[in-house]
Amino acid sequence: MAEAALQVFGLTRRYGARVVVDDLHLQVEEGDVYGFLGPNGAGKTTAMRCMLGLIRRDAGNVSFFGESDPVAARRHIGAIIETPSFHPWMSGRANLAQATAYAGLTPKESGVEIDRVLERVGLSERAKDRAGTYSLGMKQRLGIARALIGRPRLMMLDEPTNGLDPRGMAEMRELIRSLSLHDRITIFISSHLLAEVQAMCNRIGIIQHGKLRAEGRVEELLGLGIGESTLEIGSPDVDALRAALAAIVGVDVLGQGRSGRVIVRPNEVKPEELNARLNAAGVAVSAIVPTERNLEDVFLEVTR
Ligand code: ATP
Repeated sequence: MAEAALQVFGLTRRYGARVVVDDLHLQVEEGDVYGFLGPNGAGKTTAMRCMLGLIRRDAGNVSFFGESDPVAARRHIGAIIETPSFHPWMSGRANLAQATAYAGLTPKESGVEIDRVLERVGLSERAKDRAGTYSLGMKQRLGIARALIGRPRLMMLDEPTNGLDPRGMAEMRELIRSLSLHDRITIFISSHLLAEVQAMCNRIGIIQHGKLRAEGRVEELLGLGIGESTLEIGSPDVDALRAALAAIVGVDVLGQGRSGRVIVRPNEVKPEELNARLNAAGVAVSAIVPTERNLEDVFLEVTR
Protein backbone atom coordinates (compact mmCIF):
# COMPACT_ATOMS: atom_id res chain seq x y z
CA MET A 1 0.00 0.00 0.00
CA ALA A 2 1.13 3.54 -0.70
CA GLU A 3 2.56 5.54 2.18
CA ALA A 4 0.25 8.15 3.66
CA ALA A 5 0.97 11.66 2.41
CA LEU A 6 0.96 12.81 6.02
CA GLN A 7 0.82 10.77 9.18
CA VAL A 8 0.67 12.40 12.58
CA PHE A 9 0.99 10.27 15.67
CA GLY A 10 0.57 11.58 19.22
CA LEU A 11 1.67 15.10 18.34
CA THR A 12 1.86 17.27 21.46
CA ARG A 13 3.02 20.83 22.00
CA ARG A 14 2.90 22.85 25.20
CA TYR A 15 3.40 26.53 25.85
CA GLY A 16 4.33 26.65 29.52
CA ALA A 17 1.74 24.61 31.34
CA ARG A 18 -0.80 24.93 28.49
CA VAL A 19 -1.20 22.00 26.18
CA VAL A 20 -1.95 23.61 22.80
CA VAL A 21 -1.68 20.47 20.66
CA ASP A 22 -2.78 17.46 22.64
CA ASP A 23 -1.89 13.95 21.49
CA LEU A 24 -3.03 14.64 17.95
CA HIS A 25 -3.39 11.71 15.55
CA LEU A 26 -4.39 12.08 11.94
CA GLN A 27 -3.71 10.68 8.52
CA VAL A 28 -3.90 12.26 5.09
CA GLU A 29 -3.90 9.96 2.08
CA GLU A 30 -2.32 10.86 -1.22
CA GLY A 31 -4.94 12.62 -3.36
CA ASP A 32 -6.94 13.91 -0.41
CA VAL A 33 -8.06 17.48 -0.03
CA TYR A 34 -8.03 17.35 3.76
CA GLY A 35 -9.78 20.07 5.75
CA PHE A 36 -8.26 20.76 9.16
CA LEU A 37 -11.16 22.48 10.85
CA GLY A 38 -11.35 24.13 14.20
CA PRO A 39 -12.50 27.24 16.00
CA ASN A 40 -10.10 30.14 16.56
CA GLY A 41 -7.36 29.19 18.98
CA ALA A 42 -7.96 25.45 18.55
CA GLY A 43 -4.28 24.92 17.81
CA LYS A 44 -4.35 24.53 14.01
CA THR A 45 -1.45 26.84 13.21
CA THR A 46 0.65 25.49 16.06
CA ALA A 47 -0.04 21.91 14.95
CA MET A 48 0.93 22.72 11.35
CA ARG A 49 4.12 24.44 12.46
CA CYS A 50 5.00 21.36 14.51
CA MET A 51 4.22 19.01 11.62
CA LEU A 52 6.52 21.00 9.35
CA GLY A 53 9.29 21.08 11.93
CA LEU A 54 9.17 24.90 12.07
CA ILE A 55 8.78 24.72 15.83
CA ARG A 56 9.76 22.02 18.27
CA ARG A 57 7.25 19.42 19.38
CA ASP A 58 7.10 17.99 22.88
CA ALA A 59 6.02 14.53 21.79
CA GLY A 60 4.81 12.57 18.80
CA ASN A 61 5.86 11.55 15.33
CA VAL A 62 5.16 13.09 11.95
CA SER A 63 5.96 11.63 8.57
CA PHE A 64 5.38 12.83 5.04
CA PHE A 65 5.25 10.11 2.39
CA GLY A 66 6.93 7.79 4.86
CA GLU A 67 9.78 10.24 5.51
CA SER A 68 10.03 11.33 9.14
CA ASP A 69 13.02 13.66 8.88
CA PRO A 70 11.39 17.08 8.39
CA VAL A 71 14.30 18.48 6.40
CA ALA A 72 14.27 15.56 3.97
CA ALA A 73 10.46 15.59 3.84
CA ARG A 74 10.35 19.27 2.98
CA ARG A 75 11.26 18.70 -0.66
CA HIS A 76 7.83 17.04 -1.06
CA ILE A 77 5.98 19.89 0.58
CA GLY A 78 4.88 23.39 -0.31
CA ALA A 79 3.49 25.36 2.60
CA ILE A 80 1.91 28.66 3.47
CA ILE A 81 1.61 29.21 7.19
CA GLU A 82 -0.33 32.38 8.01
CA THR A 83 -0.23 35.25 5.50
CA PRO A 84 2.73 34.86 3.13
CA SER A 85 5.20 37.71 3.38
CA PHE A 86 7.08 39.23 0.46
CA HIS A 87 9.47 42.09 -0.11
CA PRO A 88 6.97 44.78 -1.08
CA TRP A 89 9.44 46.82 -3.13
CA MET A 90 10.43 43.84 -5.30
CA SER A 91 8.33 42.51 -8.18
CA GLY A 92 6.38 39.30 -7.84
CA ARG A 93 8.88 37.66 -10.16
CA ALA A 94 11.88 38.89 -8.16
CA ASN A 95 10.33 37.57 -4.97
CA LEU A 96 9.92 34.17 -6.61
CA ALA A 97 13.50 34.32 -7.91
CA GLN A 98 14.69 34.46 -4.30
CA ALA A 99 12.77 31.29 -3.61
CA THR A 100 14.10 29.44 -6.68
CA ALA A 101 17.65 30.45 -5.76
CA TYR A 102 17.03 29.20 -2.24
CA ALA A 103 15.71 25.93 -3.72
CA GLY A 104 19.04 25.58 -5.56
CA LEU A 105 17.79 26.06 -9.13
CA THR A 106 20.17 27.39 -11.76
CA PRO A 107 19.24 30.77 -13.32
CA LYS A 108 17.96 29.00 -16.45
CA GLU A 109 15.88 26.46 -14.53
CA SER A 110 14.71 29.27 -12.33
CA GLY A 111 13.28 31.29 -15.25
CA VAL A 112 11.33 28.31 -16.55
CA GLU A 113 10.03 27.38 -13.10
CA ILE A 114 8.97 30.95 -12.29
CA ASP A 115 7.07 31.21 -15.59
CA ARG A 116 5.35 27.92 -14.84
CA VAL A 117 4.21 28.80 -11.32
CA LEU A 118 3.13 32.34 -12.27
CA GLU A 119 1.06 30.94 -15.10
CA ARG A 120 -0.38 28.31 -12.80
CA VAL A 121 -1.76 30.88 -10.35
CA GLY A 122 -2.79 33.40 -13.02
CA LEU A 123 -0.25 36.10 -12.16
CA SER A 124 1.88 36.15 -15.32
CA GLU A 125 0.61 39.56 -16.40
CA ARG A 126 1.29 41.22 -13.05
CA ALA A 127 4.65 39.53 -12.44
CA LYS A 128 6.68 42.68 -13.11
CA ASP A 129 4.67 44.82 -10.68
CA ARG A 130 5.90 45.38 -7.16
CA ALA A 131 4.46 42.84 -4.72
CA GLY A 132 3.48 45.72 -2.43
CA THR A 133 0.88 46.81 -5.00
CA TYR A 134 -0.84 43.39 -5.06
CA SER A 135 -4.27 42.84 -3.57
CA LEU A 136 -4.55 40.35 -0.72
CA GLY A 137 -5.90 37.74 -3.14
CA MET A 138 -2.91 38.26 -5.44
CA LYS A 139 -0.52 38.01 -2.49
CA GLN A 140 -2.12 34.72 -1.53
CA ARG A 141 -1.75 33.49 -5.11
CA LEU A 142 1.87 34.61 -5.16
CA GLY A 143 2.26 32.61 -1.94
CA ILE A 144 0.83 29.56 -3.69
CA ALA A 145 3.15 30.17 -6.64
CA ARG A 146 6.11 30.20 -4.25
CA ALA A 147 4.87 27.03 -2.56
CA LEU A 148 4.59 25.36 -5.99
CA ILE A 149 8.29 25.81 -6.73
CA GLY A 150 9.93 22.41 -6.98
CA ARG A 151 6.64 20.59 -7.72
CA PRO A 152 5.58 19.54 -4.22
CA ARG A 153 3.40 16.46 -3.76
CA LEU A 154 1.65 17.99 -0.76
CA MET A 155 0.56 21.54 -0.04
CA MET A 156 -0.03 22.69 3.53
CA LEU A 157 -2.18 25.81 3.51
CA ASP A 158 -3.06 27.66 6.70
CA GLU A 159 -6.37 29.53 6.29
CA PRO A 160 -5.70 30.44 2.64
CA THR A 161 -9.01 32.25 2.18
CA ASN A 162 -8.73 34.34 5.35
CA GLY A 163 -9.60 37.97 4.72
CA LEU A 164 -10.46 37.49 1.04
CA ASP A 165 -13.62 38.94 -0.44
CA PRO A 166 -16.17 36.52 -1.96
CA ARG A 167 -14.59 36.69 -5.41
CA GLY A 168 -11.09 36.19 -4.00
CA MET A 169 -12.38 33.22 -2.01
CA ALA A 170 -14.01 31.66 -5.05
CA GLU A 171 -10.81 32.10 -7.08
CA MET A 172 -8.72 30.56 -4.32
CA ARG A 173 -11.16 27.66 -4.01
CA GLU A 174 -10.98 27.08 -7.77
CA LEU A 175 -7.18 27.20 -7.71
CA ILE A 176 -6.97 24.71 -4.85
CA ARG A 177 -9.41 22.37 -6.58
CA SER A 178 -7.42 22.53 -9.77
CA LEU A 179 -4.12 21.89 -7.96
CA SER A 180 -5.73 18.75 -6.63
CA LEU A 181 -7.41 17.63 -9.85
CA HIS A 182 -4.92 18.65 -12.52
CA ASP A 183 -1.60 18.78 -10.70
CA ARG A 184 -2.53 15.84 -8.46
CA ILE A 185 -1.19 17.61 -5.39
CA THR A 186 -2.46 16.38 -2.04
CA ILE A 187 -3.85 19.32 -0.11
CA PHE A 188 -3.98 19.92 3.64
CA ILE A 189 -5.91 23.06 4.40
CA SER A 190 -6.77 24.59 7.74
CA SER A 191 -9.87 26.70 8.08
CA HIS A 192 -12.67 27.76 10.34
CA LEU A 193 -14.88 28.43 7.32
CA LEU A 194 -17.15 25.45 7.23
CA ALA A 195 -18.92 26.06 3.96
CA GLU A 196 -15.54 26.48 2.26
CA VAL A 197 -14.27 23.22 3.62
CA GLN A 198 -17.47 21.41 2.80
CA ALA A 199 -17.24 22.65 -0.78
CA MET A 200 -13.56 21.85 -1.24
CA CYS A 201 -12.49 18.90 0.86
CA ASN A 202 -13.12 15.18 0.67
CA ARG A 203 -11.86 14.43 4.19
CA ILE A 204 -11.97 16.45 7.33
CA GLY A 205 -10.52 16.46 10.82
CA ILE A 206 -12.15 18.63 13.46
CA ILE A 207 -9.79 19.93 16.15
CA GLN A 208 -10.67 21.60 19.43
CA HIS A 209 -8.39 22.43 22.36
CA GLY A 210 -5.59 20.78 20.43
CA LYS A 211 -7.37 17.43 20.18
CA LEU A 212 -8.92 15.74 17.18
CA ARG A 213 -12.65 15.46 17.91
CA ALA A 214 -13.79 13.81 14.70
CA GLU A 215 -12.25 12.71 11.45
CA GLY A 216 -13.65 11.20 8.32
CA ARG A 217 -14.97 11.62 4.83
CA VAL A 218 -17.31 14.57 4.47
CA GLU A 219 -20.30 12.28 3.81
CA GLU A 220 -19.47 10.22 6.90
CA LEU A 221 -19.19 13.30 9.08
CA LEU A 222 -22.44 14.66 7.77
CA GLY A 223 -23.99 11.38 8.83
CA LEU A 224 -22.24 11.39 12.19
CA GLY A 225 -24.55 10.98 15.14
CA ILE A 226 -27.74 11.03 13.15
CA GLY A 227 -28.32 7.47 12.05
CA GLU A 228 -30.29 7.75 8.83
CA SER A 229 -31.98 11.06 9.47
CA THR A 230 -32.82 13.81 11.88
CA LEU A 231 -35.94 15.86 12.35
CA GLU A 232 -36.39 19.48 13.30
CA ILE A 233 -39.39 20.01 15.53
CA GLY A 234 -40.95 23.39 16.14
CA SER A 235 -43.32 24.53 18.87
CA PRO A 236 -44.43 27.88 20.30
CA ASP A 237 -43.33 26.48 23.68
CA VAL A 238 -39.83 25.15 23.14
CA ASP A 239 -39.24 24.36 26.84
CA ALA A 240 -42.34 22.18 26.99
CA LEU A 241 -41.33 20.57 23.71
CA ARG A 242 -37.85 19.71 24.98
CA ALA A 243 -39.25 18.30 28.22
CA ALA A 244 -41.77 16.16 26.35
CA LEU A 245 -39.14 14.94 23.88
CA ALA A 246 -36.79 13.99 26.70
CA ALA A 247 -39.53 11.73 28.07
CA ILE A 248 -40.07 9.84 24.80
CA VAL A 249 -38.04 6.64 24.84
CA GLY A 250 -36.06 6.03 21.64
CA VAL A 251 -35.81 9.67 20.60
CA ASP A 252 -32.49 11.47 21.09
CA VAL A 253 -32.45 15.24 21.40
CA LEU A 254 -29.33 16.45 19.56
CA GLY A 255 -29.63 20.18 20.02
CA GLN A 256 -31.35 23.27 18.81
CA GLY A 257 -31.24 24.44 15.20
CA ARG A 258 -30.66 27.99 14.05
CA SER A 259 -34.38 28.35 13.48
CA GLY A 260 -35.03 27.66 17.18
CA ARG A 261 -36.39 24.23 16.33
CA VAL A 262 -35.23 21.24 18.31
CA ILE A 263 -33.17 18.69 16.38
CA VAL A 264 -33.82 15.07 17.22
CA ARG A 265 -32.71 11.68 16.05
CA PRO A 266 -36.01 9.79 15.88
CA ASN A 267 -34.43 6.34 15.49
CA GLU A 268 -37.40 3.97 15.07
CA VAL A 269 -40.09 6.49 16.04
CA LYS A 270 -42.11 7.64 13.01
CA PRO A 271 -42.86 11.38 12.61
CA GLU A 272 -46.63 10.82 12.87
CA GLU A 273 -46.16 8.83 16.06
CA LEU A 274 -43.88 11.53 17.46
CA ASN A 275 -46.50 14.14 16.64
CA ALA A 276 -49.22 12.08 18.38
CA ARG A 277 -47.06 11.57 21.49
CA LEU A 278 -46.24 15.27 21.72
CA ASN A 279 -49.89 16.21 21.29
CA ALA A 280 -50.84 13.70 23.98
CA ALA A 281 -48.29 15.41 26.27
CA GLY A 282 -50.07 18.71 25.63
CA VAL A 283 -47.36 20.20 23.40
CA ALA A 284 -48.44 22.21 20.37
CA VAL A 285 -46.34 21.15 17.39
CA SER A 286 -45.90 23.76 14.65
CA ALA A 287 -43.53 21.80 12.42
CA ILE A 288 -41.84 18.45 11.96
CA VAL A 289 -39.30 18.71 9.17
CA PRO A 290 -36.58 16.30 8.04
CA THR A 291 -33.24 18.12 8.31
CA GLU A 292 -30.47 18.43 5.83
CA ARG A 293 -27.39 18.61 7.96
CA ASN A 294 -24.43 20.62 6.87
CA LEU A 295 -20.95 20.69 8.26
CA GLU A 296 -21.81 23.57 10.54
CA ASP A 297 -24.23 21.36 12.47
CA VAL A 298 -21.56 18.68 12.84
CA PHE A 299 -18.96 21.25 13.83
CA LEU A 300 -21.20 22.80 16.49
CA GLU A 301 -22.10 19.41 17.88
CA VAL A 302 -18.56 18.10 17.95
CA THR A 303 -17.07 21.24 19.49
CA ARG A 304 -19.93 21.87 21.92
P1 ATP B 1 -6.71 30.70 14.63
O1 ATP B 1 -7.79 30.05 13.81
O2 ATP B 1 -7.24 31.79 15.50
O3 ATP B 1 -5.49 31.05 13.87
P2 ATP B 1 -5.43 28.29 15.62
O4 ATP B 1 -6.36 27.13 15.70
O5 ATP B 1 -4.51 28.37 14.48
O6 ATP B 1 -6.27 29.61 15.75
P3 ATP B 1 -3.10 28.59 17.26
O7 ATP B 1 -2.68 29.85 16.60
O8 ATP B 1 -2.34 27.37 16.98
O9 ATP B 1 -4.64 28.31 16.99
O10 ATP B 1 -3.12 28.86 18.83
C1 ATP B 1 -3.54 27.89 19.76
C2 ATP B 1 -3.31 28.41 21.17
O11 ATP B 1 -1.92 28.47 21.44
C3 ATP B 1 -3.86 29.81 21.39
O12 ATP B 1 -4.50 29.87 22.64
C4 ATP B 1 -2.64 30.67 21.36
O13 ATP B 1 -2.81 31.79 22.21
C5 ATP B 1 -1.55 29.74 21.90
N1 ATP B 1 -0.24 30.09 21.33
C6 ATP B 1 0.11 30.08 20.04
N2 ATP B 1 1.40 30.45 19.89
C7 ATP B 1 1.88 30.69 21.12
C8 ATP B 1 3.16 31.11 21.65
N3 ATP B 1 4.20 31.34 20.84
N4 ATP B 1 3.27 31.24 22.98
C9 ATP B 1 2.24 31.00 23.81
N5 ATP B 1 1.01 30.60 23.39
C10 ATP B 1 0.83 30.45 22.07
